[in-house]
Amino acid sequence: MTDKDDVLRLEGLKVHYPVRLGHGFTQGALKAVDGVDLTIGRGECLGLVGESGCGKSSLAQAVMGLVPITSGRIELTGREDWGDDMLARARTVQMVFQDPFSSLNPRQTIGQSLAGPLKLHGFSNRSEREDRVAEMLRKVGLNPDAAKRHPHEFSGGQRQRICIARALIVDPKLVVCDEPVSALDVSIRAQIINLLLQLKDELGVALLMISHDLGVVEHMSDRIAVMYLGRIVEEGGWRDIFTAPAHPYTRTLIASIPDPTRPADSWERLQGETPSALTPPAGCAFHPRCSRAFGPCTSGTVPGFTPLTEGHRARCHLLTQGDPA
Ligand code: SF4
Repeated sequence: MTDKDDVLRLEGLKVHYPVRLGHGFTQGALKAVDGVDLTIGRGECLGLVGESGCGKSSLAQAVMGLVPITSGRIELTGREDWGDDMLARARTVQMVFQDPFSSLNPRQTIGQSLAGPLKLHGFSNRSEREDRVAEMLRKVGLNPDAAKRHPHEFSGGQRQRICIARALIVDPKLVVCDEPVSALDVSIRAQIINLLLQLKDELGVALLMISHDLGVVEHMSDRIAVMYLGRIVEEGGWRDIFTAPAHPYTRTLIASIPDPTRPADSWERLQGETPSALTPPAGCAFHPRCSRAFGPCTSGTVPGFTPLTEGHRARCHLLTQGDPA
């Protein structure tokens, strides 16, 4: 049953891309997202973490309506079928992209870039649009005079602030942030993360925060979902994930968070490459890289979720055998 406070609800979401080989016949499917269930409540921040190629960007694109889904359900604010009302859907969910350099039109002023979505969503009064642009620039820590300037006059961090203002200007219920700080200088990442957190609290907007780096989502997520090869392998409150990680993959991700108090060559790194989503390993897809793998892991049975504490669950055969992984 749908919780009326869920801003986003995914049920059994699959995004498979047909792959044509040989003479153009469909030979298989790249299973970028393969049966994901997730919810995000009003004003909540969910961190979605996993290595490059695990499917998190395909999931984000599906939520944005940018790629067709193979099966499953996507509900935004309790609504699945938007029919021809795609503008209303777009107003409900907005996105902040990784690269603030290519996200803004270099020929438009910042004011034009921010007023564009307002026009699209029916704000026909020009002075109302200008007021709203000035208000949003203030909210992201910029002077309203920035509206008269062009993107090249701003630093990377300032441009990402502008992109955040553009995403929030139509008052969405959910903002999908796809690696929003990974293209920025390390010294300003914390400022952007703090800004997103502050705006989440101030505006009550929910965030889907996507990152390859658990360290980035650690301090801002109410809950964290760890994704591996198209599936969620562990999900829980940030405290569950960081103090009692149950899946060997989550443990390795935590151990590989850079620790500035230790020399870089002593930091743990994940061994091996992520397998192809075209030919995922049988059984637990993590088994070729898992130091705890044992018989059932390779037998062809995908581990199901084991509930741990309230809201905390993980997929690992060790858990069904009473082993704390
Ligand atoms: Fe490792 Fe097996 Fe658990 Fe997969 S199911 S994470 S291979 S122990």
